[in-house]
Amino acid sequence: NSRGWDVNDPLHAGQIEAARAPYAQKAYAVTPLLADGLAQEGGETLEIRNPARPEDRLGTALCVTPALAAQAVEAARPWAAPVAERRAVLERAADLYEARHGEIFALLAREAGKTWRDAIAELREAVDFLRYYAARAEQEPNGPLGTVTCISPWNFPLAIFTGQIAAALATGNAVLAKPAETTNAIAFLAMRLLHEAGVPRAALQLLPGTGREIGPVLTGTPGVGGVCFTGSTATAQGINRVMAARLAPCAPLIAETGGLNAMIVDSTALPEQAVRDIVASAFQSAGQRCSALRLLYVQEDVAPAIRKMLFGAMDALRIGDPWQAATDVGPVISAEAKAGIEAHVAAAKAEGRLLKQLRPPQQGTFVGPAVIEVSGMADLTREIFGPVLHIATFRAEELDRVVEEINASGYGLTFGVHSRIDSRVDALVRKIRVGNIYVNRNQIGAVVGSQPFGGEGLSGTGPKAGGPAYLARFTRPESAPAAE
Ligand code: GLU
Repeated sequence: NSRGWDVNDPLHAGQIEAARAPYAQKAYAVTPLLADGLAQEGGETLEIRNPARPEDRLGTALCVTPALAAQAVEAARPWAAPVAERRAVLERAADLYEARHGEIFALLAREAGKTWRDAIAELREAVDFLRYYAARAEQEPNGPLGTVTCISPWNFPLAIFTGQIAAALATGNAVLAKPAETTNAIAFLAMRLLHEAGVPRAALQLLPGTGREIGPVLTGTPGVGGVCFTGSTATAQGINRVMAARLAPCAPLIAETGGLNAMIVDSTALPEQAVRDIVASAFQSAGQRCSALRLLYVQEDVAPAIRKMLFGAMDALRIGDPWQAATDVGPVISAEAKAGIEAHVAAAKAEGRLLKQLRPPQQGTFVGPAVIEVSGMADLTREIFGPVLHIATFRAEELDRVVEEINASGYGLTFGVHSRIDSRVDALVRKIRVGNIYVNRNQIGAVVGSQPFGGEGLSGTGPKAGGPAYLARFTRPESAPAAE
């Protein structure tokens, strides 16, 4: 894995500060990046905003029109270079990402509201995806699907954007990349580094735009051989319907979606460690991870002590502009996101269930980390994508009911357990049906290669990203060369 930077090392911090400085006010004019011969023009424009600082204007992004998106599908050409060459190019791209960390860190803070810690982890993950898939591709016996549409989320605008593309390119596909509407500048920068490394333009095109406008072209056109999507469960279901209805051979959908992720803390857990991991799992990245902890079940006899310690730890969180190294919790992505999360918190408050909420800065789209009391999973009707933790208590004899509740949510992404009883941990690991289980640690930040990431049920189709089974889904067995 990439070595990354240590946020607590003053030498590294100084280097990051210096590398980022030239990009503190840079403005961007994002355009589509299409195959040679196509007009590099667009229709509508989208503002690029800084969620922490309304006065920081980052520029605009030009969206492709549906007609131009259709031309891009036609112009896409799978990357025919031998696998060793593709590997070398993707590794060169990884080197370029690391070399250009100053601008990447600046944009991750300004456009996506990423704290230093999150930005460092994100660049590291992007680099890991490039190197891991590039190396794994040498063991894939099959040919590419053809052209793959990659639709990526704003919460990992570099890592997941890059991971999807790297998997598709490593296996020789052409890629149509549609970044999230709120993070076009990061995507544009990453795309130019990939082209600079040597990926041909016809094998990798950037199509900024809204899902509503160009989504149907990028998922429903017969020339698209597969779709890789990370985002909400509802959007994945919509894409699935479009793909099912088209008059073309069935094409695979690889979807990574939401979660209603739980953690169980029993009375044998080490409280200091559990609280540290609860805070990280629920509030790091302002809770904007699909892996984040949403519902904490605490055993009744230790609940008062855990709550007290948790509230104390929350009081120490610094909420503010992610440009500052000391910030722990940055903004949520947009005013719309903030309004949705706040409506949920307000409803809980009206019912007397809001146990705590920190005060956020007034400027920018900040939401104060909040804790809401619930009786169990049935009270969580939807994924609240922000810094909101729900807490329920259970008695020892109710553990089986808790497991049933968690499994009955329909989602299955992450689960955490804090306990010092090995047999209990083993039983939970066997019974809880989710993609990623974390024992006596936090439940976010899966590491490429060693912790393949992905869920089941409403949380996604698999295969797990950053794991050995991922690339096969980007290939087609029938196009394998005949055995000698
Ligand atoms: N892979 C990330 C993690 O382990 C989450 C990805 C996502 O939020 O989509 O925290």
